[in-house]
Amino acid sequence: MALSKLGRVALRVPSQVRWESELAQSFAPGQGRQQLVIIGTGWGGYSVLRNVDKKLFDVTVISPRNHFLFTPLLASTTVGTLEFRSIIEPVRNAGFRDEKHFHLAEATGVDVHRNVVKCRNALDANNIREYEVKYDQLIIACGAVPNTFGTPGVYEHAFFLKEVADARAIRNRILRNFEISVRPGISEAEQKRLLHIVIVGGGPTGIEFGAELYDFVQEDVRRLFRSETQHVRVTIVEAMKILPSFDHDLQTYATNKINERRQMELVHDRVIRVDANSVTLSDGTIVPSGLVVWSTGLAPREFTNSVRFEKNGRGQLVTDSELLCHGENPCRNVYALGDCADVKHSSLPCTAQAAERAGRYLAKSLSARVEGKEVKPFVFNNLGMLAYIGEYRALSNFSFFKASGHSAWVLWRLAYATRLGSWRLRMQVPMDWLKSFIFGRDTSRF
Ligand SMILES: Cc1cc2nc3c(=O)[nH]c(=O)nc-3n(C[C@H](O)[C@H](O)[C@H](O)COP(=O)(O)OP(=O)(O)OC[C@H]3O[C@@H](n4cnc5c(N)ncnc54)[C@H](O)[C@@H]3O)c2cc1C
Repeated sequence: MALSKLGRVALRVPSQVRWESELAQSFAPGQGRQQLVIIGTGWGGYSVLRNVDKKLFDVTVISPRNHFLFTPLLASTTVGTLEFRSIIEPVRNAGFRDEKHFHLAEATGVDVHRNVVKCRNALDANNIREYEVKYDQLIIACGAVPNTFGTPGVYEHAFFLKEVADARAIRNRILRNFEISVRPGISEAEQKRLLHIVIVGGGPTGIEFGAELYDFVQEDVRRLFRSETQHVRVTIVEAMKILPSFDHDLQTYATNKINERRQMELVHDRVIRVDANSVTLSDGTIVPSGLVVWSTGLAPREFTNSVRFEKNGRGQLVTDSELLCHGENPCRNVYALGDCADVKHSSLPCTAQAAERAGRYLAKSLSARVEGKEVKPFVFNNLGMLAYIGEYRALSNFSFFKASGHSAWVLWRLAYATRLGSWRLRMQVPMDWLKSFIFGRDTSRF
């Protein structure tokens, strides 16, 4: 038994050494089919990967993240309504020709004259390796980063909610603050600070995170931290109206619900500074806080900034209606989609829906090109939006149907449970919902 284990280890080492030496030079996968390189494993990149005809294309994916993340349910993992692994899908399950076609690496640049993507191996900070990957067709779907608008202290003291690691850090901070708040000798003022959560930004992410927190306080904190419950407060700071992309009546419904909640407050202002224990508002008010979550729009990634294609005022890559990028020279083999890009004269929202549909379109249109068929332009019809607002209530904002409250919540859960990318997730998510409903949320900290 022990010998067979050793044998397997011994067999693995030489193949890994070969792989590293290949990377150090240049990576040029199988011959014959067109080399399609996808940058990113988010909604856009993963959608292309799943839908592209792998008989026509030799697909290579470059991403520092080896999983696809179902972002609409990310807020639910910050308080333990759902578990982290229930909303991610390993990309290696998506059917690569072989294991070398996925690179856990960061793209750092593109040389359009030599048709190569420059990459940096993201695994080992002490041994960073740079190498190149050749492409015939390149798809840029690297997403975007949170926009801090240059506000001092955000990177140092606030938390973002974009990746699983962010959700995990938030969950740990919330649980840490509750544990500190029950220590003997702690002052009431310090308890109040620790249990004051400030959410900056009233878009869907900020509102859904606030909703999850509210449920957590009502259903679990009341049970586990009985005397601390009275000190918990959630403040949402938003300069404009909340949920700007939703219908006016739905915005009003959500605003009224938030205002009705004793432990929640909506402040119409701007945060101009974040410190370790407080935020400062534009009128000079210093608000003590134990956790600040920053969710105020998007800015381009370093990679998007580095590539020399046409961009708009928000720093997104500008594409034509076939999602082709435009550079100094005519460029017929570089496409961009998702949050890092926008279509000229037909702006798209930065949503999972738009990125996923653009990915499906691109997968089809790439095949059509190879087969010499007509390529139609990408047309995006917004199906609508859903947002959870807490207490088993949601908003559904479709062009043909608008609803709020419990019925919209049923729709919200059904819509997301069925949109999850695999049967494994479609089983896990409802099981997590049931588990936290029956037994309460998991408040372990690790
Ligand atoms: C908490 C949250 C909730 C959301 N809820 C909704 C919702 O309910 N409905 C909705 O429609 N939209 C929602 N969105 C928005 C939606 O998730 C985004 O619009 C969508 O993820 C955009 O897809 P994308 O592929 O462009 O980017 P992403 O999904 O962000 O993926 C980008 C990918 O590129 C990779 N990458 C980054 N840099 C590099 C690099 N240098 N080289 C290679 N790869 C790189 C990343 O690791 C990632 O895999 C939500 C977003 C968040 C954060």
